[in-house]
Amino acid sequence: MTNLSIINQMLKISKEEIYYLVEKITEIVDNENYTIMEFCGTHTHEISRYGIRSLLPKGLSLKSGPGCPVCVTAEEDIDYIIEITQKYDLGVITFGDIVKVPGSKGSLSYLKAKGKEVWVVYNPLESIEIASSNPSKNYILIGIGFETTVPTLAYTIKKIIEKNLKNLFYFSLHKLTPPAMKALLDSGEVKLDGIIGPGHVSTIVGVKGWQEVLKYYNIPFVIMGFEPEDIILGIYVLMQKIKNKESGVFNAYGRSVSFEGNIRAQKLVNEIFYVSDSNWRGFGIIPQSGLEIREDYSYLDAKKKFILDEPIKVRKTGCKCGDVLRGVIEPYQCPLFAKVCVPNNPKGPCMVSSEGSCAAYYMYERNRYLNEVGGYL
Ligand code: SF4
Repeated sequence: MTNLSIINQMLKISKEEIYYLVEKITEIVDNENYTIMEFCGTHTHEISRYGIRSLLPKGLSLKSGPGCPVCVTAEEDIDYIIEITQKYDLGVITFGDIVKVPGSKGSLSYLKAKGKEVWVVYNPLESIEIASSNPSKNYILIGIGFETTVPTLAYTIKKIIEKNLKNLFYFSLHKLTPPAMKALLDSGEVKLDGIIGPGHVSTIVGVKGWQEVLKYYNIPFVIMGFEPEDIILGIYVLMQKIKNKESGVFNAYGRSVSFEGNIRAQKLVNEIFYVSDSNWRGFGIIPQSGLEIREDYSYLDAKKKFILDEPIKVRKTGCKCGDVLRGVIEPYQCPLFAKVCVPNNPKGPCMVSSEGSCAAYYMYERNRYLNEVGGYL
């Protein structure tokens, strides 16, 4: 039985088996140094939460990647939303942490504190009720998320179209992850030996969705689930691939990820959105890495409906999220980490988001880095 088939059958493994796998990983690493990256913010949080880094040998370094949709939202986009909300007196509907993300001129929570209508919803369909109940006001629904979230938002847009609502518009901040993976590998800023592939994005795009990008690079990419045992087993498989100099896409999350992915969800997304270039925090414009509303439904597109007279000029802040997202620095190497930037007073999205790596390091691991930050924490 191959390692991958073992992983795909096992949901739970014993503590002894975990230690056995850690030993095997340690043997592979030996006295060498390896760097692997977890692309996805959920992996970063689970790795920190379960103390997985502390189980691994010193020579194996885990870096966080750009896989947090809130974190990679460009400051320009936050500033733009704040400006149009004020200029056109819009109500804002969104979900998750985006409300707390600082742009260069404040955040949506700041607008809310100033009396603007800002709704945080758990289900985007709630936006229809909100807009219907106040037809004299215009609302924007901010759609954020990677491939995993987009199908739900595409479904919401279909419902908005069916209801023929005239006062609810859509602001797409959606991003596609394989082009960002390509941009990261092309930049060569960080030398990576292997990549931990995101499990939930891969459930939608399938193994196939990564193969096109990864075929140009001599690196193994192992798709993993999010249970601690998934991660340990997945890292073991990844280290074996590195040791055997195998490259390509490998699926260690077969109970959720198929080769083709979720074809129904892919069709729904293609019906509503087209692929466009997109601005990523820390990366700039990445070609073909975003989604915008198709021309047929452009009357719903907030970016076309609410225009600013002047282009956005972003003010510089001290936040190093861009470097964190590219794996160039670790969160604790940002001079603001845990000093002026903490979860209840975040200076950047990586400390705001539940998937942000600064938040993960702060919540679960900051004491491990006590010496490295001069004993301040
Ligand atoms: Fe940005 Fe705060 Fe992280 Fe520094 S610690 S990179 S300021 S989010």
